[in-house]
Amino acid sequence: MGFDFEDLFREAFTGQRGGSGRGRSAYVTEHVGDDIEVLKTISFKESIFGSKLKINYKAVDSCNTCQGSGLKKGKKKSTCPTCHGTGQSTHILGGFHMSSTCGTCHGSGVQIAKNDECGTCHGNGVEEIPKSTEVELPPGIKDGSRLRIPGAGDAPFVAKDAYNRTRSGDLIIRVSVSNDSVFSRENNNIVVNQDILMTTAALGGEVVVPTIDGENIKLKVRPGVQNGRKLTIPDKGVPINRNINNRGDLNVILNVKTLIPETPIQTALLEALADAFNDKNAKRTDSDWKLDLGDDNKNDKTITYDENDLHPSHLNRIGKFLGKFFNFEGNSNNTTTNNNNNNTNNNKANKDKSKKDSGEKQ
Ligand SMILES: [Zn+2]
Ligand SMILES: [Zn+2]
Repeated sequence: MGFDFEDLFREAFTGQRGGSGRGRSAYVTEHVGDDIEVLKTISFKESIFGSKLKINYKAVDSCNTCQGSGLKKGKKKSTCPTCHGTGQSTHILGGFHMSSTCGTCHGSGVQIAKNDECGTCHGNGVEEIPKSTEVELPPGIKDGSRLRIPGAGDAPFVAKDAYNRTRSGDLIIRVSVSNDSVFSRENNNIVVNQDILMTTAALGGEVVVPTIDGENIKLKVRPGVQNGRKLTIPDKGVPINRNINNRGDLNVILNVKTLIPETPIQTALLEALADAFNDKNAKRTDSDWKLDLGDDNKNDKTITYDENDLHPSHLNRIGKFLGKFFNFEGNSNNTTTNNNNNNTNNNKANKDKSKKDSGEKQ
């Protein structure tokens, strides 16, 4: 519990606190100063690899002018007028004499006369003093972590004398890790969101991903990769248990970006793509493309496609469509295709014919 009964009784009946119980020297009171909390913001990279921080702050400490006594040079404390030097005040409560610590001198039995006060600290014996300290932040420190430097906080607000034992509070450094534009943290892993175009996602390819260490890593993306796919690079994450040689992973999350057509050609290509992949939901700008969805939409503008136009080679169609944007005659394209096919057919026919001929000859 942190106290013993003997101390408790002594205090209750004599007003003496925790001392040896011999005369006035027993009135030693321990005063503890306040903790000081300082907020320090570090970069994400510093949180991963650790860093040295210089902390400038102000703390209550012994007054430099009076060395903490609170007195003008050559002056002494005088007897407390409230308790007449006893350090305690007595009241009668329910017929019992109760003692408590004197409120004026806080149990010391002495006080500093107004005229004897130190000009700097006005008799308090303490003043706020600028301080500076250096701390080493361990690698892998989390946002919101607190580091405690014992005794580097405020000194208690009392003058130094034989009746006071003072102990300074602690300096607490609260670490705030600022957000990084590229990296974020997930437990012991670092996360990078990597944008890739939907064409890369569809066809596969390579992406170059940054690491917190500084170098870039080339990653293969397999064809048909879906949005949100996680690729893991080991040992490029957060140091575990402050050990820079034992690290978590770097998780690369692929973020598939939709292509946004900005030119008629891009629109045409995407529409052709929609057609090739039998996407019946995608909007088409040209009435020609409605033909592929069925024969119900025929109108005056409808170009009649012959068998060659409906050939599974979609590239042929894309070429034809693009031809319009490059001011080619759509029909000339057709003709070429037809000619080629006709040639093939003719060749075939010729072959058959020659076979026949030769057959006939035999
Ligand atoms: Zn002073
Ligand atoms: Zn007093």
